[in-house]
This record gives sequence, C-alpha cells and structure tokens, in this order.
Amino acid sequence: MADPLPRCRLASWGEVDAWAETLSGKIRRRHRTYDTLVGLTRGGWVPARLLSDRLGVKRIVSLRAQHWGVTATPSGSAEITEELSGPVANERVLVVDDITDTGESLRLATDHVRAQGPAQLDSAAFLHIGHSGFRPDFYAERIPKRSWVWVIFPWNYWEDLRTLAARAAESDPRLAKVVERLREGTGVRFPRADVARALAEFSR
Ligand code: AMP
Repeated sequence: MADPLPRCRLASWGEVDAWAETLSGKIRRRHRTYDTLVGLTRGGWVPARLLSDRLGVKRIVSLRAQHWGVTATPSGSAEITEELSGPVANERVLVVDDITDTGESLRLATDHVRAQGPAQLDSAAFLHIGHSGFRPDFYAERIPKRSWVWVIFPWNYWEDLRTLAARAAESDPRLAKVVERLREGTGVRFPRADVARALAEFSR
C-alpha cells in the first residue's frame, strides 16, 4: 500500500508578498533593525531577499540547515550541513526561514549563529505551525496544529510536485489516475499538464 499523500496548500506569489509585508511591518513596529539577514538554505532565501528589500538590509548570508529530505518526509534530526557564508560577529542579525514545523531547523540555526557572537539576534519565519518546538520572534501567520498542511511555496512547486506525483503514481501510473489521486490526497487540483511534466521529469 502506497504512503498516504500529505494535505497540501498551494501558496501563490501574492500570498508570499503579503507575508513579507506583514512580517516586515511587525519587525518595524518593534523598532528592530539589522545589519545582516541569515537566509536558511533553501526555504529562507526568498523570504530573506524580500525582507532585505522591505527592511533596507543589504547584507544577506546563507546557512544550510537540513531536516526534511523530500517533500513532507522529515529526515531524522536537523543538522547544519553548510556553515555561514560570511561572518556575523558583532552584527545585529535576523535569521529567516519560510516555515517552522518541528522548529528544529530554526532552533539549530539560531544556536549556530549565537555561537558566532552577534550583537543582537532575532528569528523570523513567514509561517509558524502551532506545534513547533521553536517559536520565532516574528512570523506573519500561525497555522494551528490541527490544520497542519504541507505548504507548496512557489519556489518549490516543481520539486514538490515531482515528489508528490511520483508517490501518487505508485499504485497506478496512468496520468488521469495520478491527477485524481493527487486531488483526493493533497486537496490540491494540479493542472494535468503540470502532473505529466513532473512525472516525466521525475523518471529521467
Ligand atoms: P522544521 O525543521 O521541521 O521546522 O522545517 C524545516 C524546513 O522544512 C522548513 O524550513 C521548510 O523548508 C520545510 N518544511 C517543513 N515543514 C513544512 C511544511 N509543512 N510545509 C512546507 N515546507 C515545510
């Protein structure tokens, strides 16, 4: 029996823009200012870039914390797999990610940054799931634990769809069946052409 598909929520660029606006508004209202943003690879990169624009912070460095191997499949405990791409000692730093689910990635990342001796350290995520063991200082939207979904961010659309479509194809690989199973399992109505492309790319 194939694994059940996770319930999903397809996020649009419009929502992404609104989250960036909400988040930067909350940060500004608390009068927090930063020298450097740390964008967690890879989910935090677009959020960090959008906050950089809105908050007027020109320096972004990268840090790779890994936890979820493939779509909706956690891969053991989180670990730092690539160090900070630049120094943050004595800087006022905001660590940015897209979503806190278990919260392990952001917890690990902030611990790692704290050990480098920043002058000030905050964390932010677009979305924060209620059961997360780590609560970011700032977030745009809280998702209650009972409403857990896998959020398909626009920057991860094809990667997520390739994984989900391959999973949906395990029991019956016919395109119409895969489209239907995706709709029933994830709750998202993916265009047939996208599913066909994702399946073709996955098998390559
Ligand atoms: P976590 O360490 O569990 O807080 O999550 C680490 C990363 O996995 C997040 O930054 C996301 O990129 C990804 N992720 C975890 N849960 C979800 C979810 N429910 N929807 C979309 N991406 C997720």
